[in-house]
Amino acid sequence: MTRPLLSIDEARAIVLGATAVLPQEDVEVGEGLGRVLAQDVVAGHDVPPFASSAMDGFALVPGPAGRTLRIVGESRAGTPWTGTVSAGDALRISTGAAVPAGLSVLQLELATDHGDEVTAGDDVAAGRNVRGSGEDLRSGAVVLQAGTQLGPAELGVAVHAGAATVPCTRRPRVAVLATGDELVPPGAALGPGQIHDSNRITLLALARREGADVVLARRVRDDPQATREAIAEALGVADLVVLSGGVSVGPHDHVKPALEALGVEERFWRVALRPGKPTWFGVRGASLVLGLPGNPVSAMVTFLLFARPALAALQGASGQTPRRTEPLGEPIMRHGARDECLRVRRVDGRLYATGPQGSHVLSSMALADALAVIPRGEGELPAGSQVEVLAL
Ligand code: AMP
Ligand code: MG
Repeated sequence: MTRPLLSIDEARAIVLGATAVLPQEDVEVGEGLGRVLAQDVVAGHDVPPFASSAMDGFALVPGPAGRTLRIVGESRAGTPWTGTVSAGDALRISTGAAVPAGLSVLQLELATDHGDEVTAGDDVAAGRNVRGSGEDLRSGAVVLQAGTQLGPAELGVAVHAGAATVPCTRRPRVAVLATGDELVPPGAALGPGQIHDSNRITLLALARREGADVVLARRVRDDPQATREAIAEALGVADLVVLSGGVSVGPHDHVKPALEALGVEERFWRVALRPGKPTWFGVRGASLVLGLPGNPVSAMVTFLLFARPALAALQGASGQTPRRTEPLGEPIMRHGARDECLRVRRVDGRLYATGPQGSHVLSSMALADALAVIPRGEGELPAGSQVEVLAL
């Protein structure tokens, strides 16, 4: 009896179940873009660290309009005023400069400057134009949580919190092996039967975009020994080995036997998915191996479905992208036995296929905004149906 093929969700759960979070390292905050925090970041002090002026103007004791005060000095950004300020006094003050306790700030536009004195053109309430210390971050508070992916704002918050380095999970090391005798490097003249190896480039770009350090990326000939040697090398250096091609059952598909010979334990082969049915997944120790089909769209789709979440999990990322659905703009013929990842673009909030959906038609991936998951079934899924959407 043949087992029914795994669904996309079942296959992804197997991948994630085999994935453990990588160890942590300290990363200079300036190099932290895209990295995932391994520990909470706690504010080492209040931010702002002192009460500061929100305006250029005059610092003075709160009181009514019409007062004329003696200008006794200046508080500049980076150089606070250290003297005293009595009720009849004012300080010149600039934005970001420290405001002495008890004073408020009247902005320049509402003050008449007589050189030695200033006349307040408005009532000044307590706290006017003063940013209190700790208004942004409180000393001791968790300001960024473990599992957060660091974007520009998060990096700035870490700096405000006092950090010079951020504790991040190590970048996953990825090896990309593109198998196929027909493959030649980008730009090479094509001989009879040859094609340009696009998967090596696409897959390494996908891996880098997910925060991976691509430590090896090469082509491999359709030869049993060459395949074994390349995979052995990849297993020695990578947390995740991504293979393209050679996982089907043709006479020149050497990937599965090579993996078996190297002791990589199969966890699944084949998913009820189009494109991407022959996808293979296995583990050896802590190393993960994904064998992706060679057709360029299949390789991309299966990377997005299985390698992308694995890379996020290796980094301990907490932000699982929430599942969302969007309506189809046109009827789509369903596949009877497999869920289909359709390349779609959005027009007025509805999804339309980008063009021919053959798994070799990479140009329609370049035109796509997203992948729409069309559940298997009989006949057409009508326009207006809500379908799950995956970001590219
Ligand atoms: P395979 O999975 O090895 O049977 O390959 C399926 C199809 O994908 C064949 O048409 C291959 O020529 C093509 N293909 C395999 N590897 C690549 C690659 N690295 N770049 C572009 N096309 C590829
Ligand atoms: Mg091949």
